[in-house]
Amino acid sequence: MTSSSKQPAAIGSSETLDPQNWDELRAQAHRMLDDMIDATANIRRQPVWRPIPDEVRARFRAEIPREGSELGEIYREYSNFIAPYATGNVHPGFMGWVHGGGNVVGALAEMLAAGLNANLGGRDHVPIEVERQITEWTRTMLGFPPGASGVFVTGTSMANLMAVWVARTAALGRDTRQYGVSGEGALLTAYTSKAAHGCISKAMDLAGFGTDALRSMPVDRSHRVDVEAMRAQIKRDREIGLRPFLVVGSAGTVDVGAIDDLAGLSALCREEQLWFHVDGAYGALGMLSPAIAPHLAGLETADSVALDFHKWGQVPYDAGFLLVRDSERHLAAFAAPAVYLRRETRGLAAGSPWPCDLGPDLSRGFRALKTWFTLKAFGTDKLGAMIERTCRLARYLEAKVSAEPRLELLAPAQLNIVCFRYRADDANRINSEIVADIQESGIAAPSTTTLDGRLAIRAAIVNHRTDVGDLDALVAAVLEFGTRRSPGASAGRS
Ligand SMILES: *Cc1c(COP(=O)(O)O)cnc(C)c1O
Repeated sequence: MTSSSKQPAAIGSSETLDPQNWDELRAQAHRMLDDMIDATANIRRQPVWRPIPDEVRARFRAEIPREGSELGEIYREYSNFIAPYATGNVHPGFMGWVHGGGNVVGALAEMLAAGLNANLGGRDHVPIEVERQITEWTRTMLGFPPGASGVFVTGTSMANLMAVWVARTAALGRDTRQYGVSGEGALLTAYTSKAAHGCISKAMDLAGFGTDALRSMPVDRSHRVDVEAMRAQIKRDREIGLRPFLVVGSAGTVDVGAIDDLAGLSALCREEQLWFHVDGAYGALGMLSPAIAPHLAGLETADSVALDFHKWGQVPYDAGFLLVRDSERHLAAFAAPAVYLRRETRGLAAGSPWPCDLGPDLSRGFRALKTWFTLKAFGTDKLGAMIERTCRLARYLEAKVSAEPRLELLAPAQLNIVCFRYRADDANRINSEIVADIQESGIAAPSTTTLDGRLAIRAAIVNHRTDVGDLDALVAAVLEFGTRRSPGASAGRS
């Protein structure tokens, strides 16, 4: 090292990954931004979804590039081969599964977050204060007391798994983190409904208890869990030496949108001293609607709630969240000392506890920013009204189905989900064909579920852009493809 002004040859070129020409980059960036805004503004001109041509799929079996390419060229590839073949959930005709529609404000915030490149695992910076702000907002929205803690995660699947871990540590004590789930831990059993989301069973598997340690209880005609059956099962399990520790209620089941009797489950958990977790993936945000909130009574008494801002909240993917009533118990499950994560009272290492103490992740992105922008841009009144409107649209669709003799309603629309089918012989096969036909047509994208052995066309109205015309188009398409697939089916036959 002789000269300080000259790079020693061995270090190589001082060229970074930043552009050589910022003006060119800026021009290209503005084109990309304009196109993204146009694509959303003109979304109705596009099909909801398109089948992927083989040659398009083949493009993504390429070698890893050794040489760089022009940004404009890469963007052309994106525009031609990626964007047109996305899921379609931005489109108002998308009603499959439970997918949020996103929003442009949230998308812009996501761009800003990427520019900031903040790591929200910990340390003392305002992005973490933004996440804490969302925790406070979520806490008050759900009616939780001060002292609750929260953390962004990918989605409710992860948040439910984390709730299982928190409940486990609460039941067995912190030592279980050292000794593992053995001995008494092997006796832990959890309770949920038959209609609960599959990720709860998976969480029991991933947490080391195994899916057999989850009791899936029967549901009533409205698909709400039978609380008395659960009470009896808990009693029987205790008698044979098992150790009940957790009840998972659903605030909006994924198949029909049923809300369990959360107050009843809460009372059962208090009596039995069990952890009460609520899977509020999409339904918990119903608290923003004065019409839906009363149906969620009891949610405010849960020990923990998992929810997704990316569903009814319309925040761009992904934005899952776990809220825990007692932050000490939350920390007990995840906080771990490490010399390289030492906390201070001043400097950048201040501000403990950090988000990495509240979940399994260390490096984490700034999911809170797109959520903060979305909540501020629209306000909770408007979001609540939008959520309520999706439920009114579901009732419109339900009425339309009920009035059409060629269609059959398979479950009452409790929130925003309508399950129905085209009447035909071999109805299960015909209806699954109809759904694929509609998806491939680009007219709409419903999905399917099976209720009491009957395959249902399932329309979950989550997207804030969906309107009456989209539901009319869905029904027209079901009748059209139904007639083609089952020309012999006559009106009114069941
Ligand atoms: C979507 C959903 C989940 C899973 O959440 P992800 O965000 O997809 O991981 C769990 N439970 C219910 C009721 C859901 O609707």
